[in-house]
Amino acid sequence: MDNNKYESLKQYISDSNYIVFFGGAGVSTESGIPDFRSADGIYMQKYKYSPEQIVSRSFFMSNTAAYYEFHRARLLHIDAAPNAAHIKLAELEKAGKLKAVITQNIDGLHQKAGSVKVLELHGSVYRNLCMECGLDYDVKIISGSEGIPYCKCGGIIKPDIVLFEEALDNEVINESLMHIKNADMLIIGGTSLGVYPAAGLINYYRGNKLVLINKSATPFDEQANLVINDSIGKVLSEVV
Ligand code: ZN
Repeated sequence: MDNNKYESLKQYISDSNYIVFFGGAGVSTESGIPDFRSADGIYMQKYKYSPEQIVSRSFFMSNTAAYYEFHRARLLHIDAAPNAAHIKLAELEKAGKLKAVITQNIDGLHQKAGSVKVLELHGSVYRNLCMECGLDYDVKIISGSEGIPYCKCGGIIKPDIVLFEEALDNEVINESLMHIKNADMLIIGGTSLGVYPAAGLINYYRGNKLVLINKSATPFDEQANLVINDSIGKVLSEVV
């Protein structure tokens, strides 16, 4: 452990009143949720398609049952529990320090930990909307069904997650930008920042407390005021 870095992080948090957290898949892996892109080869054998192919709009529309087989097996983790990272971020929000969590994850774990302002760039598996009438179905309807889940109106139910080939929600993007612009401290955790739109969003931060917490290096390390290469849950547990 690098004590100086942890002391700096503590000081940053103490000096800040508008912290924004931006998190990626690494935040969830500590709850036992693997990045769905991992182990590509295994999927190719079982499903004949790569995860990226399956989690796309065109695949959902043309192979809906196969999509749902993958969705239930690999994207639904409804028994997963929040880890230390989620819990500490919720505590920072309750203390009035943190104003928003922006996440690329779709697993709802920040809300389970008690976070209120959560901006889900890629949607959530907890919302499932009829493509015809828009009725929202509980995730248990999805996990408890087989094949294609249908609305009582006859429409296909689609998870409210952003598939490849689909656009991000403009309202979520704009609110995320607003928070990043207003932030006095931006913590980025559990992402190598390779995935759109992470890199673009971060450029809107104007403060001087940009903290990157990730197990491996990222292309933004040079730009950051503080870089800690470790588990996000462990780091936040040390300082919050
Ligand atoms: Zn319907």
